Amino acid sequence: MSSSVPASAPDSYRHRGQRRALVEELQRKGIRDERVLAAIGAVPRHLFFEQAFESHAYHDKAFPIGEGQTISQPYTVAHQTELLGVRPGLRVLEVGTGSGYQCSVLLTLGAQVFSIEYNRVLFERTCQRMGQLGYTGAHLFCGDGSVGLPAYAPFDRILVTAAAPALPRPLLQQLAIGGVLVVPVGNEQVQRMVRVTRESADSFAREEFDEFRFVPLRGAAGWGE
Ligand code: SAM
Repeated sequence: MSSSVPASAPDSYRHRGQRRALVEELQRKGIRDERVLAAIGAVPRHLFFEQAFESHAYHDKAFPIGEGQTISQPYTVAHQTELLGVRPGLRVLEVGTGSGYQCSVLLTLGAQVFSIEYNRVLFERTCQRMGQLGYTGAHLFCGDGSVGLPAYAPFDRILVTAAAPALPRPLLQQLAIGGVLVVPVGNEQVQRMVRVTRESADSFAREEFDEFRFVPLRGAAGWGE
């Protein structure tokens, strides 16, 4: 696993203890992948919050990050990451950079990360934050990630962290053979977590998991503008 807590970050003994407790809570809730649990235990989630709200960082809850968006609940991050099956060196596209927390978890797992955010204010804030924290390895983009990043395809893994009305066709097309897409699909109230594995050029296997509630995926292959 690559280094996770940047040397300069204010990550105290107390924060590390809170993360250990969070990891135990995620284990009790059914997360089994040791590498995913180790990454959650390593990334300082409080540094992705405004300092005034830092005390919320290690509760297993989503939290507002401005612009009407949220940092996903730790359980959701762990579950999506577990379903994705990330291994070092894989090319991973994340749609919905948000705070940059999930992106940092993917970097910690050794992935080659491409992450795209629709909202320019969040994009600029998150680029700056990730630079300050030393998470400099990801390729960050601002734009409509519902249509993927065709210039950088194919991807071994694609993770969508916002709710799609249906499987986004451009993302399916940008999966490598053997690649995996994890995306919540449903209406604007509730979505089912879906995992799609590309078995060949024109065959895809679909599996469905639990229900979640995400903010909507905007854009051409999402809910529109
Ligand atoms: N992964 C994020 C994190 O770790 O903080 C949480 C993501 S938040 C639940 C969903 C994000 O998806 C929001 O920041 C939202 O602006 C973004 N989003 C929505 N539609 C998008 C699109 N078409 N392309 C890229 N990002 C999109």
